[in-house]
Amino acid sequence: MVIRPPRLIGHVDMDAFFAAVEARDRPELKGKPLVIGGRPGEPRAVVSTASYEARRFGIRSAMPLATARRLCPQAIFLPVDMPRYAAVSEELFRLLASFTPAIEPVSIDEAFLDLTPLVRSYDEAEALGRRIKDTIRQRLALTASLGLAPNKFLAKIASDLHKPDGLTVVRPEEVENLLLGLPLERLWGVGVKSRERLAKAGITSVAQLRRLSRAELRALLGVWGEEVFDLIRGIDERPVAAPLPARSVGRELTFAHDIAGEARVRAELKHLARMVASRLGEEAQAGRTVVLKARYADFTTCTRSRTLPQPVWEAEDLYRVASLLLPELPRPQGPFRLLGLSLAGLVPFRQLPLPLA
Ligand SMILES: [Mg+2]
Repeated sequence: MVIRPPRLIGHVDMDAFFAAVEARDRPELKGKPLVIGGRPGEPRAVVSTASYEARRFGIRSAMPLATARRLCPQAIFLPVDMPRYAAVSEELFRLLASFTPAIEPVSIDEAFLDLTPLVRSYDEAEALGRRIKDTIRQRLALTASLGLAPNKFLAKIASDLHKPDGLTVVRPEEVENLLLGLPLERLWGVGVKSRERLAKAGITSVAQLRRLSRAELRALLGVWGEEVFDLIRGIDERPVAAPLPARSVGRELTFAHDIAGEARVRAELKHLARMVASRLGEEAQAGRTVVLKARYADFTTCTRSRTLPQPVWEAEDLYRVASLLLPELPRPQGPFRLLGLSLAGLVPFRQLPLPLA
């Protein structure tokens, strides 16, 4: 058996990214509660990012903007300016690439780095972490939180422990204590629903979770449970890898009971459009071909697509095109067993002609 020395994996996560970019570029906004979300004239939009000052009022991502306005009427509300954030993101990734070619983007403002070859031991990890954070601060005038740990799972947890502007090093000999003392909500990949299911089984801590067998975890959390069995023991061999470029981004909904009727179908299309748009935002991609997919109760499946003159990425535009495609289906009223919406012909934001509408 080959015993490998521990790896040093970094997880970089920019602090309140969209809000921080706005405050950096407009100094009059600095230190103010700042809420980024939606676009002008879109009353039902949600919060994309709240500055830390706004979070003090209880404002959180994914909260309706109307709720945020009620919580903090004096906050400054700005629409999402994705092309600008994507340009900053690109600078960030270029900076990170000056440290290591082994970068795995997680979203527009988050990435894993394999830093193993850059240090001789964990004693050098903190100094390296400082250098990475200082470089980001000096070159971008933004702060990042950085977690350094022996694997991706732990690095992701670590970057979140001392936000904002945090630097958290988890040495191999500290892994066991960190995991055992960790609240369940800090476990990356164990979401609210899983936690509720675990709580029903009387499990509220990582220490309790450790007492379950692989099979028991699988029964509670599904296939992912088997991975959780290893992760909560500090075992995560996943490499830092550049993802293959997405050729399309889409979502599908399979309904427990077939759905029918224009109002219901349109509501589901809206939901799909929002999910696809949020994914596109994370990947900083737009696309020209909208594909609507429908499956009927007898499993016949149809798709209808439209290629647009301009790339789109926002939920409203995706929904608008899906609504145009709907009447082209053989039975537009359903009943549907599945609906899917995807966007192909993807282009990164940075390649879009500016200014954008
Ligand atoms: Mg972030």
